[in-house]
Formats: sequence, C-alpha cells, structure tokens
Amino acid sequence: MSKLRYERPVIQKMNAGLMNKFGTRTEYEPVKQIDGVSVASIIKEYGSPVFVMSERTIRKTYKEAVRAFKTRYPKVQFAWSYKTNYINAVCNIFHQEGSWAEVVSGFEYNKALGNGVPGNKIIFNGPEKTNEELLLAIKNDSLIHIDHFDELYQLIEICEHLDKKPRVAIRVNMDTGVYPMWDRFGFNYENGSAWNALTKIVASGKLQLTGLHCHIGTYMLSSDAYAVAVNKLSDLAFKCKSQLNASIQYLDLGGGFPSANTLRGAYLPASDTNPSIDDFAEAITNAILNAGFKTDELPLLILETGRALVDEAGYLLGSVLANKRLSDGRRATIMDFGVNILFTSFWYEHKISPAQDFTHHTEDMVLYGPLCMNIDMVRESVNLPLLNRGDQVVVHRVGAYNMTQWMQFIQMRPNVVMIDESGNTHLIRKAEDLKYIEQLEEMPKHLSSISL
Ligand SMILES: *Cc1c(COP(=O)(O)O)cnc(C)c1O
Repeated sequence: MSKLRYERPVIQKMNAGLMNKFGTRTEYEPVKQIDGVSVASIIKEYGSPVFVMSERTIRKTYKEAVRAFKTRYPKVQFAWSYKTNYINAVCNIFHQEGSWAEVVSGFEYNKALGNGVPGNKIIFNGPEKTNEELLLAIKNDSLIHIDHFDELYQLIEICEHLDKKPRVAIRVNMDTGVYPMWDRFGFNYENGSAWNALTKIVASGKLQLTGLHCHIGTYMLSSDAYAVAVNKLSDLAFKCKSQLNASIQYLDLGGGFPSANTLRGAYLPASDTNPSIDDFAEAITNAILNAGFKTDELPLLILETGRALVDEAGYLLGSVLANKRLSDGRRATIMDFGVNILFTSFWYEHKISPAQDFTHHTEDMVLYGPLCMNIDMVRESVNLPLLNRGDQVVVHRVGAYNMTQWMQFIQMRPNVVMIDESGNTHLIRKAEDLKYIEQLEEMPKHLSSISL
C-alpha cells in the first residue's frame, strides 16, 4: 500500500444537525466499474469529466415500464420525451424498443425525423410552433397537441388553404390535488376552457379531433393524481362523444414519474419513498378501465415518460482537483465537473461514489465544481471518505435533463460515451473544443485586429 497522505488535524465545532434514522454512517461503497467496464479505463480513454450512458439499463428500465402498463391495459404506447435526453444514440434505443417520439419544438421535431421516426409517430407538444413547423407536421400526419387558443386559431387559419385535416389533441391542465398546479400549459379543465377549445375544434370543421393530453407535473410523488387526471380527461372524452359526435382515440397522460434521485433536503432516500412505475401503472389503468368506456372503445393510452426511463442509466465520471479548508473549518473538495454540466444538482442530492478503495474515515464536506463562480456547488453537504487530488468519483442518476440543459459556461461540454450490452464503449457525443464554440461567431472587420 502506498504511503498515506498527511491530513492536517482540525478542531471542529460539532454540528448536531439532523441525522437520519440510520445515524450518520455512510452507505458508500467504491464504484469501480459500470456494466463491467472500469471507471479508470473510461476516464483514461475519454478524459475527465465524461458522461456515460448504459444501453443495458435504458433497455431494462424501458421494458419494465412497458410491462407495468401492458400487463394491466391492452392498448399502450410510449413516446420518448426528446427534451429529457436527445442525444440521437439514446433516442434510437427507445425507438428500437418501440417508442414513438414526443417533441416540444421544431428543432426536436426535425431531430426525430432525422432519427427515422415516421411523421405519424411524432407527438408535437409545446407552446411554440411556427407556421412552417405546423405545415411540416400536418404534411407528415403528426399528432399536434394544441397548447392555447392562439395556436388553435393559427392552425385553423393555416387549414383554410389546405385540403387536409390535421390530427389534433388539446393539452388539458387541471386540479389533481397536487400544488402548485401546473396551469400554464394547455387549457384548464375546471374553468371550462378545455371544453371551449374542444367545441371550437369540432365546429371549425377543419381539424380532426383525435386525442386528449395532459402532463400534470414532473417528479410527481402521488399516483392518485394520475387517477384524477384520467377521470377528468375521460369526462371530456364522453362529452366529446355525446355532444360533439367526436370520438377520442387516445388519452395521453404525459410523463412526470419520479426517478430514484433524492430531492434536496429530503429525509429519506427517494428509492425508499417514491412510488414505483407499477404504482403509477396501477392507478392509471384502473382509472381508465373503470371510467365507463365500452370494452371495444377503450382509448389508446399514451405515456411520455422522461426522467423515470433514463435517469438511472446516466453516470458522470470526474476527478478531484483539490482540497481546501474553508474559514469555518469545513472541508471543501473541488471537482473537475461543475453545475454547467450537472444542471440537476440544483434540485437533487446526487449520489456520489469514490471510484477507488478508501479508508473508512469520512467527513462532511462541500463539493464544488471548477467554475469561477459562487453558484458552482455540486453538493452542499455530503459525507464522503477523504478524497485526494486525482481521485475519481462516479455521480449516479444523471441521465435525465443534464445532456440537454447543460451549457458551455466557463467550461465546455465533455465527451458522452455509451456502453453497449456487450460491454463495448462508443463515443456518442464528442467533447467540444474552441473551434466548435466559435463556429457561429462573426468578427466585424474593424475589430479584426488588435495591437497591445
Ligand atoms: C418534459 C415533458 C415530458 C417528460 O416529463 P418527465 O417528467 O421527464 O417524465 C412529457 N411530456 C411533456 C409534454 C413534457 O413537456
């Protein structure tokens, strides 16, 4: 064993803060490999920091989720939420597994087409859709989910000059007993806007009313809320049939199921407290089956689950840059990855594991990133073994929303690697370089030379 590094002793004020019910013992084990591939070898080949996606975990999570719904209800379709992770290799795993695409912008729409998703299997959500984007979606027979009255009028106007009736649904927002209520997207159920929109769609004669959509929130901790949503959507579906003579072919319940990430400040780990996919499937399918649809008229159930399908499959590997003592005696460790690439650290307490053996002396510490910016804190307080410069760590459950919300702020975005089911690694997104960052800049002529 190599000589241990000397650590200067410190006298510390005892912090009698909250222990959890297991005391202050750390649960940490070193994590030296992912799907059989050593962390050290990935960092050696692809640099540090580096994101890693596990193809095996994506497929397994997806299959489990589909099974949870399909064993309880006969007509189920998943649609991959592009904004959750739209690296094409990741999307195509979902598409190979049978998932349609759910997009919320024109650029995501074109990404889905580029990946080979047939237009009629793309769900186009979101508050902004330009005329050109709508025309393309209509031409491709995509499912257009209308968000507001202005969009409804925009569509009707576009269709004045077309001889094709686009397939549309409306997004409905509603009180499901979870607050704050997400009422900024879609049409409200309780105040009658949703019904109003449906009557206008049918009266226009220009649109083909096909479905009803909702996405009631994200990281939802109540499966009951989905049962409420099903009941309200079903009520609208029955009214469409009886009063507008329009038959609703699908109910799209959106996404919002939580991953196993623990929210900041939570008392117990999320893996112990959050409902499972089966709990959500049970609540949703029971509600539809009991809503009163005739057996041969059961609507297709669409799900747009994002984070619950991909968070677990993503890892961020990084290295320790330095240790320091803050003025109050706390230990601070500076990592080579910051909040610019780990956006979700603003609301999660990500599990972080050392990637090599360690002594069992641990200490509460703050983990900072490398940015020269005060907000760059990856964990505010985490009990970890003492890490030294060059030591490697694994950040768990980073597959959702990091590889889309990341930014080049001070540091550029790193390599993203996928481990396939046979344990081979593939580069699926290259690390950025200066040329990439500057490729869209233009220099006015009078500024092109300087002399100092
Ligand atoms: C973001 C989003 C999703 C996915 O949400 P998760 O909370 O990640 O499951 C699904 N549908 C719509 C309309 C969305 O905007």
